Amino acid sequence: MASPAQQLPPGWAAEWEQTHQRYLFIETATGHTQWEPPTGPSAQMQQPPMESPPEGTVPTHHSKRRQYAAGQTQAYYGTTEEPSMLQPMSQPPQQAGMEPQLFTPGLAAPSFAMQQQGQTQPPYYEPGQGQQQLDYINSHQQPAYGQPNPNALADQFGQMGLGGQRSFSLQTANLLTSPPDPRELSLPPPEIRLPPNATVTPSQFANADSSYQRSTLNAYPNTSSLLSKSKIPLALVISPYRTVSESEPQVPLVTDTVIARCRRCRTYINPFVQFIDGGNRWRCCMCNLSNEVPQMFDWDQTRNQPGDRWSRPELSHGVVEYVAPTEYMVRPPQPAVYVFLIDVSHSAVQSGMVATATRTILENLDRIPDEDERTKIAIICFDVSLYFFSLSPGQSEPTMLVVSDVDDVFLPKPTDLLLNLAEARSGGGLENLLTRINDMFKENSIIGSALGPALQAGFKLMVPIGGKIIALSSSLPSVGVGALKNREDPKILGTAKESGLLQAASPFYKTFAIECSRAQVSVDMFLFSSAYQDVASLSCLPHYTSGQTYYYPAFNAARAEDALKFAHEFGEVLAMPIMLEVIMRVRASRGLRMSSFHGNFFVRSTDLLAMPTVATNQGYAIEIQIEETITAPFVVLQTAILHTTCYGERRIRVVTTAYPVTSNLSEVFASADQVALAVLLANKAVERTLSHKLEDARDAVFNKLVEILQTYKSSMTAAGAGASAQLAVGENMKMLPVLILGLLKNVGIRQSAQIPPDIRAYSQALLTSLPAQSLISYIYPSFYSLHNMPAEAGTVGPDGVIMPPPLPLTSERLERHGLFLIEDGQTIFLWVGRDAVPQLVMDVFNLPSYDVLRGGKTTLPVLENPFSQRVNAIVQKTREMRRGVYYPHLYVVKEDGEPPLRLWALSALVQDRADVLPSYQQFVSSLKEKVNGNGGY
Ligand SMILES: [Zn+2]
Repeated sequence: MASPAQQLPPGWAAEWEQTHQRYLFIETATGHTQWEPPTGPSAQMQQPPMESPPEGTVPTHHSKRRQYAAGQTQAYYGTTEEPSMLQPMSQPPQQAGMEPQLFTPGLAAPSFAMQQQGQTQPPYYEPGQGQQQLDYINSHQQPAYGQPNPNALADQFGQMGLGGQRSFSLQTANLLTSPPDPRELSLPPPEIRLPPNATVTPSQFANADSSYQRSTLNAYPNTSSLLSKSKIPLALVISPYRTVSESEPQVPLVTDTVIARCRRCRTYINPFVQFIDGGNRWRCCMCNLSNEVPQMFDWDQTRNQPGDRWSRPELSHGVVEYVAPTEYMVRPPQPAVYVFLIDVSHSAVQSGMVATATRTILENLDRIPDEDERTKIAIICFDVSLYFFSLSPGQSEPTMLVVSDVDDVFLPKPTDLLLNLAEARSGGGLENLLTRINDMFKENSIIGSALGPALQAGFKLMVPIGGKIIALSSSLPSVGVGALKNREDPKILGTAKESGLLQAASPFYKTFAIECSRAQVSVDMFLFSSAYQDVASLSCLPHYTSGQTYYYPAFNAARAEDALKFAHEFGEVLAMPIMLEVIMRVRASRGLRMSSFHGNFFVRSTDLLAMPTVATNQGYAIEIQIEETITAPFVVLQTAILHTTCYGERRIRVVTTAYPVTSNLSEVFASADQVALAVLLANKAVERTLSHKLEDARDAVFNKLVEILQTYKSSMTAAGAGASAQLAVGENMKMLPVLILGLLKNVGIRQSAQIPPDIRAYSQALLTSLPAQSLISYIYPSFYSLHNMPAEAGTVGPDGVIMPPPLPLTSERLERHGLFLIEDGQTIFLWVGRDAVPQLVMDVFNLPSYDVLRGGKTTLPVLENPFSQRVNAIVQKTREMRRGVYYPHLYVVKEDGEPPLRLWALSALVQDRADVLPSYQQFVSSLKEKVNGNGGY
């Protein structure tokens, strides 16, 4: 526990707080209070460095400063990350270590201080001479783009949290005069300002980090009428099993199996409960019931002596994991099971898929989780027949068994088809088999696919245990159960009937998915066809079984890039530490109810989400209703995920977040999280395309945005219900319109008669499963200028490779002599301007001039020059910084190259006008018309 004996910084006092039995820290100048001990010169850290007092002086409190420590639970994402992003452009570049973070420390941290440097340094590549040169310099003397007005921002932050004030102060921006600034997407969500007595321990980790769980609102309306008045949908956006890099805080593990839960509502004890009755009981933060503290709660079982209650991580951490005792098991932890279904029909073999897949499994056998040597594996090949492989332990020669009757699938042998991984390898049999499969089928001329029967066979093999089916398929399923017809019809693309193509064509894929879910079986689909494959039907299986769909249209392993991408992603899936037999439930304070659920799972009972196996980095969105008036000062939401690790341990991960409650509409607006909102709206839009038309889905998203802006105008601005020359929105929601525009232009939703249904369906699968960090870049890609990037960009800084500053997504930024990178987490485009100087082309591509450079999918050479190495480092970082297994293809796009490729790359610049789709300016003015009640869009 904190003690005032520690050295307090100047200007702070400590007071013993009787009710909570701990010290309250008071900043004397302002009266601001916090539980968190003020460590070091915290007051200075809260201020933009430019205004920091000189060393050794007493920090005076400036009324125009944001108090990052205003809510003691927020300090962890406040102090070091935000100021640098918002400092004026004239800041000295001493802030390199204070980069803003893209949701999570350690990942994608564009340095904004760098941008300033870039303006004063000569560009690496200058155009030849004359006017171009002048243009170049001119463009760099102007503010880069939509730079936030530093004074306005200072005002904004000055009014927020001043002197411990708990309320939000809403700052209005005019969308017509403040163009999107992509750097704002890296800002943390609006601060969660809890009352000072909200947590039981003074921990900066009491609230879960927003990368695990974030809410569309960070202040909860106290009534449903206040919520509906705001028009902002209330939802949680969660990614409970995101990957955690070594430099990030790890999730603490409670190993003593002492798990304190509320007797009535089953909430897990957390930093927001209260201890009462001399610490013998605790009051539940959800339902207020008083519960007994478990006997062993204060006992250190390792040392067998009294322990320190306050060192228990569940009282100080919003994300914590428990080792679960046997009561949490329906049956003993099952081993991890992988059943591979490999298409070996003519096209599958000819494309090189079979060779690449078997080689990748072979090369990754050591990476498949199998610490306890219980992991099981089976391989079934299929064309219009099924081919099983039998191998007894220690044997080196596998036997192949063929089943040609696919109408009534049976297993040809009761044993030795599902193999213990370690035993199957002991005699070299598995390696032998994987090495030979491609040769066995290399002359196969059979066309057709019994994918459905293969799925049934795989299911039969593993049904007593559960696990993961990984299906690799190169064509439309054509025989047996689940056979599909080619329903692709160019005539109906872009019409009201198009959404029919996005629904499953056969009920098999949903009914079988539910059967799988019950038996704890997940399905991953790897799809490779060059023709229509019905991704919409096939992706149903991953959707309901918490698997994932991976799509490699027109896969051809003869292209090194294709083979590399698939091998990389498949290898990552194999190596992933999957969770088994997962159930997830979100509990919340009285008055709140989880009302609808979006993501890859099956809703088993009202609010219990069943996930047979869970891959890391999936995202989910859960909508929340306010059922009764909330009288508590804050609410708590807790996501609990019960699962078995692939190492055979039953565990519970608990993610807890608390939010203040407000009766004030302006606080509701000021607390809105535009990133979480965009994630929710993406999920809802995709679902609507399945139940309605694509057009309806787009309209619904657009109208939701109009409603929010209308309410904002009528209740938060002087214009009220009258017409306004402005389009007002809160500063914290300034990026929402451009995110929505990006969503409306995404391949999964976009108005077009040109998008093949398989491409659409795959995009929709991504929109409903990517975690926020990846989803945002998928709808609002990243865009960098490389030829003139700051000297540090592409070099390694304290947090890894330094990225160039992101540009707004408009082709106005493209320069004829330039080299640009555009990426959305799935694809990387290197755009080369037609006047790129020969030296640039030589340094990056090792070619003498732009004319001999070829556009298309490529592998960038690593050359012996610093610029090549920096560009490669940026491409590498781009591939690593998004969550998930994806390894984006890299395309070289020449400014005057093939039109389809150019148009594809340009379609990522979502602020431009494209065909019938509006530019950002047009979009915003049609929003304004609508908000003023004059139609539009
Ligand atoms: Zn309770």
